[in-house]
Amino acid sequence: MGDITTTETLAQQFPNTVLKPGSPRYEEENSKFWNRDNADIRPSAIVTPSSVQETASIVKILSDTETDFAIRSGGYMPVPGHNTSSSILISTTCLNSIELVQGNLVKFGAGNQWGSVYDFLEPRGLVVPGGRSRPVGVGGFLLHGGVSHFYAEVGWACEAVVEFEVALATGEVVVANEKENKELYWALKGGGKNFGIVTAFTMKTRELPKMWGGVRVAVGTHETAGKVFEAMHDGIQGVVDEKAHVEVISFFVPQMCQSGDPMFALCLAYAGEVERPQALKGFLEVEAVHDGTRTATQRELADDDKQNIGYDKRWVSVLEGMRSHMLTHKIRGLFRAFSYHGGPQLTLDIYSEYYTLAKQSGMFEEDPGAMAALLWLPAGPKLSSGTSVISLGEEAEPYLSCNICFRWERPEASKKMHAIADAIAEKLKKKVQDAGAFIPFTYANIAGVEDTTFQGLPNKTKKRLREVAARYDPQGVFQKQVPGFNLV
Ligand SMILES: Cc1cc2nc3c(=O)[nH]c(=O)nc-3n(C[C@H](O)[C@H](O)[C@H](O)COP(=O)(O)OP(=O)(O)OC[C@H]3O[C@@H](n4cnc5c(N)ncnc54)[C@H](O)[C@@H]3O)c2cc1C
Repeated sequence: MGDITTTETLAQQFPNTVLKPGSPRYEEENSKFWNRDNADIRPSAIVTPSSVQETASIVKILSDTETDFAIRSGGYMPVPGHNTSSSILISTTCLNSIELVQGNLVKFGAGNQWGSVYDFLEPRGLVVPGGRSRPVGVGGFLLHGGVSHFYAEVGWACEAVVEFEVALATGEVVVANEKENKELYWALKGGGKNFGIVTAFTMKTRELPKMWGGVRVAVGTHETAGKVFEAMHDGIQGVVDEKAHVEVISFFVPQMCQSGDPMFALCLAYAGEVERPQALKGFLEVEAVHDGTRTATQRELADDDKQNIGYDKRWVSVLEGMRSHMLTHKIRGLFRAFSYHGGPQLTLDIYSEYYTLAKQSGMFEEDPGAMAALLWLPAGPKLSSGTSVISLGEEAEPYLSCNICFRWERPEASKKMHAIADAIAEKLKKKVQDAGAFIPFTYANIAGVEDTTFQGLPNKTKKRLREVAARYDPQGVFQKQVPGFNLV
């Protein structure tokens, strides 16, 4: 059956749930993508179920009619077409409840963004390992792993999920936890969209009314970059302070970076009320043109993207520019990623080569307002030793996930931007391969479509994932009909 007939069937059975192009609710729903290129795909209908049963009935119809459909939670994954479809889009928007259960657990619907979860937890003095920016969706983030302010202690954020509520392609509703559907519980901790639509997550919370953190901005000269990368590599070797967090963001926008050097936004956090934590000393010694670190709540840190009050006026525009490039829904973006181990000199070489290549690539001629960014996620021992699908094992060496990010405005530039990113990513991957430092696994939440995600996992993990998919989705609906990172 074609998707027009299916849309009519869905519209008859779920009249308030099916949105058609041109209606104000459709247009509003279709604007919720971090990458504007995904909004341009325009589904034939957007379906917005408001309960797990309704979701399961909808999926059953789509499965029976072999209709392609995409799933979207927050819409923050930039990969073209991974969270939308020209056929049907199931948006989790109306699955937006949040409640405390059994005292210290929080259960929230897949339609929430992290900001709403933090708004709910903050007055209760509680935190969860969630996204570091307010608008990121809970669904894609948790199903592919999740890097939170607490990654050094908790590992992948999905480790703190105690239960998933899932709508299967068979039309059944199941919960997956340590006791029921244990294999599915394991597979959903990192295995993505491959098993069903998760309609709600239940997570462990902990008390932490205040923590320390914020962004330090520095000019990315060669010397400063050397110091930043020394500190970043030190932070994952030897004895790791599990309360400390760092995300190293570097970015270059021609109008903002007139000296020619990129900028660093060092996003620091510490799970405690300490000023200048010793574990982050290396980053605190880097000369900063702006220092936004302070005692704050988790919500306030996640809100840093919109709170620039008190920032040194000279740098407000740089920060606002970087944040609006990274966060707004209005413009286009892409990710590419790769993982490697190795030392600070290799990272410095990658950094220098990336910005040389980006400046020579023609991307800023294509769109003068474009941004090229390079970010690092330092993966210390806890990310490898956990129970999730994407924990590489206790014996795995600490590694870095390196994320290429472009942002631009002009729709005509998209094709060229992707070609440029592919060429740069290939050169950088070759560099780490030549250094014997390449790791085949890439964290899907920061990956591009050509990057190795599930392919890079150990064979026994891949086999186990395929077995779980075959058991819970025997027709392979989530492999064949749903876009996203497939199992291999
Ligand atoms: C500005 C920005 C900041 C970010 N910060 C962080 C960060 O701090 N830490 C981090 O780890 N990552 C971060 N990311 C990456 C982010 O985690 C991923 O993009 C993630 O997939 C976003 O989740 P989402 O729900 O918004 O995804 P969506 O785009 O809605 O979905 C992503 C994928 O997951 C699938 N999916 C979504 N919901 C469900 C569901 N309920 N059931 C089944 N499948 C589903 C979709 O089909 C799609 O394939 C950031 C990205 C951006 C752009």
